[in-house]
Amino acid sequence: MSTNKPTPQHAPMDQFPIKDGCLSVAGRSILDIAQQIGSTPFYVYDSDLMEQRVTQLRNALPKKIHLHYAMKANPMPIVVSHMANFVDGLDVASGGELDVALACGVSAKDISFAGPGKQDWELEAAIKAGITLNIESENELRRAARISSELCKQANIAIRVNPDFELKASGMKMGGGPKQFGIDAERVPDVLKEIGELGLHFRGFHIFCGSQNLKPEAIIEAHDNTFELALRLAKDAPSPVELLNIGGGLGIPYFPGETRIDLGPIAANLEAKLPAVCEALPEAEIVMELGRYLVGEAGLYVSKVIDKKVSRGHTYLIVDGGLHHHLSASGNFGQVIRKNYPVAIANRMESTETEEVSVVGPLCTPLDILANNMTLPKADIGDLVAVYQSGAYGYSASPHQFLSHPGAKELLI
Ligand SMILES: *Cc1c(COP(=O)(O)O)cnc(C)c1O
Repeated sequence: MSTNKPTPQHAPMDQFPIKDGCLSVAGRSILDIAQQIGSTPFYVYDSDLMEQRVTQLRNALPKKIHLHYAMKANPMPIVVSHMANFVDGLDVASGGELDVALACGVSAKDISFAGPGKQDWELEAAIKAGITLNIESENELRRAARISSELCKQANIAIRVNPDFELKASGMKMGGGPKQFGIDAERVPDVLKEIGELGLHFRGFHIFCGSQNLKPEAIIEAHDNTFELALRLAKDAPSPVELLNIGGGLGIPYFPGETRIDLGPIAANLEAKLPAVCEALPEAEIVMELGRYLVGEAGLYVSKVIDKKVSRGHTYLIVDGGLHHHLSASGNFGQVIRKNYPVAIANRMESTETEEVSVVGPLCTPLDILANNMTLPKADIGDLVAVYQSGAYGYSASPHQFLSHPGAKELLI
């Protein structure tokens, strides 16, 4: 007789309680929510979970660390204005995001704008608003200087540094080696001199080296390297460093074997290293900017089973949602080897009869997969399929127009 436990199919999910056999969000059954929304597919985000995540992080990290929300993770305006109540600032990555951030009433000094290829109208909007521009190239710096003098308004400039180290074990590397992001660390001393000569207001440094990291040792090493680099570069600064953005990189668990990142060692390391940093850069506000970590776990993507069929022994649940709404869950947004996001039959959470199925969307492409060969409660036409970890890089990171299906609704509760 075998006593083998089934191997977990994904990281454990416990953020949405089960009520009468259904997933619930903010105390409400998913069936209720589906009825209120009136159609599937939809995204639902739990506002309390977002707030709790910020609170937990604040409680864990040294008080000195300011938290910014990188709004490209979930740019839904009411999500951004909700987050703006709890975080210390917002990071935007386009002129469009800047409009949303300003509409939330966040003060200009707490908004920064990173992103390669900023256009003149974006630089102009940023300078007019008085936010901090994280400069990504020497050309961009000169364009900002020209626009600043045309507007007769001093631009607030931070340098995004392409570091001379990498964030190890990161889902997506964004620094180290040749990169389209930031100015190579070795060029920064000359650029600092130019900022002084151009009469721009120097704010500080932005050093972001990667995303979706679950390994405290890797984050700690990146923090140490970041501080070392910032202190080295600060020696050439035209004025005191007011802002040191050390990036984010904290990940959330999706796949088998992954669990929530242990903040303890990261916090302890920051606690140990910050005194020397603050002594060397006494005017610097130290910022961590996070997207996925703050909102990713707070969202579900819910679609409805439209058809169920067996093809040569393999069972398919065909749902009304798919990669056109949730590219990441289909595995086509940065995954090298496709793995299943955590998926559940949201109205049969306690059902014990299971079967192995693939959950696929309505698009005419074999890439439209939400779950491949997963063991799930036995489902029927009309049941609801929920994809967890859908609060970040979901709807806005997906090709809505592909195949001209209707859009998904989004609800924050
Ligand atoms: C995307 C991005 C972030 C957010 O990354 P997450 O992995 O979602 O935390 C932060 N900073 C910059 C500059 C980014 O481009």
